[in-house]
Amino acid sequence: MPLTVIVLGSSAGGGLPQWNCNCPQCAAARAGDPMVPPRSQSSIAVSADGERWLLCNASPDVRTQLAQTPALHPRALRHSPIAAVALTNADIDHATGLLILREGGAPPVYCTARTERALTDGLRVLPALASYGAVTVRRLTPGSADPEVIRDRAGEDIGVRLRTFTVASKPPPYMLPLLSAEEIADLHAGDTVGFELSSADGASRVVYVPGVLDLDASLHARLSSAALVLIDGTFFTDDEMIASGASQKTSRRMGHAPLTGAGGLLEFLQSVTGPRKALVHINNSNPALRADSPERRSIEAQGVALSIDGDTFVLG
Ligand SMILES: [Zn+2]
Repeated sequence: MPLTVIVLGSSAGGGLPQWNCNCPQCAAARAGDPMVPPRSQSSIAVSADGERWLLCNASPDVRTQLAQTPALHPRALRHSPIAAVALTNADIDHATGLLILREGGAPPVYCTARTERALTDGLRVLPALASYGAVTVRRLTPGSADPEVIRDRAGEDIGVRLRTFTVASKPPPYMLPLLSAEEIADLHAGDTVGFELSSADGASRVVYVPGVLDLDASLHARLSSAALVLIDGTFFTDDEMIASGASQKTSRRMGHAPLTGAGGLLEFLQSVTGPRKALVHINNSNPALRADSPERRSIEAQGVALSIDGDTFVLG
């Protein structure tokens, strides 16, 4: 059974343009420069039958993303093809879209224990949603031997399988006051995970990792056996935010392996030769957002694409 993947939002948190940013990319996107089209915040949708879809991350832009995607339009007076939502973490750009999906009660939510706790005690999205209808949370266990069978509200198998793996990560900033020093120090507690999605027969494998810091052998093996890799394109260089004066933090400090430099993602991807490779979660500071930039050319020359909102991949 083929799997269809639609990139709903290819940008990192803030989107392009970001509301308070006037960097070259945001300014160009705001001015309608065709070389820098606007991008919405990080999310993909996956389906095995074209009828029922798993939304991977629910961005604050989800309302517009669904409106712009015919496959995700309602087909009855009250209906949505979104059968369930799976979250890679509890970041604001990945989770607050759940609040937009409240009418009629939010779809079932697949997430790790750490993400469930963040959405319950930190952002309080889940308690808030519960007042609009019962929310079913289905717990994801990273590294589990059997893939999770994705089911809709009624418990019916939608033909999509999900394997979850941890990536080194910190809790979302709003959780820091609520966690012990020990909990914060545990970088593999499941605050952020990657997804390996497939059809029921295990074929058409997609690896979706919008945030990744450690580029290790196990990730390499996982990416190599996939048909499609949608991976962290947040920052082009490690010191991009510092150089532009936008922040004091490096890419790595923010939990993202930079694309370039020693130990960067592009270098790592060079020996991942099987799958199609495309970047997602691209921050507005990334100069490769400009279609005619040398940075974009250098990425594409290495066999890696920059995904854009609406990109659709059909994996046979
Ligand atoms: Zn900007």
